Amino acid sequence: MPKMKDITVFRELYDPHADGYLVTGRLKDESAPKPYIMGWRRRHGQTLIEPRSYSSKGWLTRSFREALENDEWPHDRQFFNDRHKDRLYRWEDQYLAPHTQRISEKQARQLIKDVSKDYGIEPPALRWRAENASSSFYLGQDHSITFHHRDRVSLLHEIGHAIHGQNDENDKGAHHSPAFTRIVMELYHKYAGFRLDYLMVTANIHNLLGDMKSEQIIFDPTKHPKF
Ligand SMILES: [Zn+2]
Repeated sequence: MPKMKDITVFRELYDPHADGYLVTGRLKDESAPKPYIMGWRRRHGQTLIEPRSYSSKGWLTRSFREALENDEWPHDRQFFNDRHKDRLYRWEDQYLAPHTQRISEKQARQLIKDVSKDYGIEPPALRWRAENASSSFYLGQDHSITFHHRDRVSLLHEIGHAIHGQNDENDKGAHHSPAFTRIVMELYHKYAGFRLDYLMVTANIHNLLGDMKSEQIIFDPTKHPKF
């Protein structure tokens, strides 16, 4: 499979769900019969995954547009490694947990209702557990949140998984991807009162935002009527 060093890159678009890039370019090898190339790579990866080659730039452009329109992404395990998870937990423990508010079951149900309405998703079912139960989690299969914490940030984190799951319909990446971080940052700002600059700076300390500098693939805003 071609390496990045073998290619003259035309465009690289960053997808925060997959924490990787959709790449187009031309092989440097002048003798290649189909020199135009498109593929995907991990943020720190140097190999093009599932490369496709074309004889003309026109075909490449067409294929590139289709990949964007259909939100195509290879089902390659490299993109599913949940390598941000521990750092994300540390960020929340260190910078958010000390400032979070306690939440009652009634408030939790209302918060789920409010956020779901704002983000245009079906409200996930809430399974309210005893405070000493072992864990809180969102389950995609039945769209439910099992919850034993008693604070706002932890609940917003799980609602974030419900929103993230919907935004990443093609299931391109890890559960705690940079796209997930960006979603929960917005939730912590809007529903838990954290300042955006505080969230940005502290998330960045833990390197959770992915590539913020390159051109981004942004999910379809028409699915998110509030934005
Ligand atoms: Zn999580």
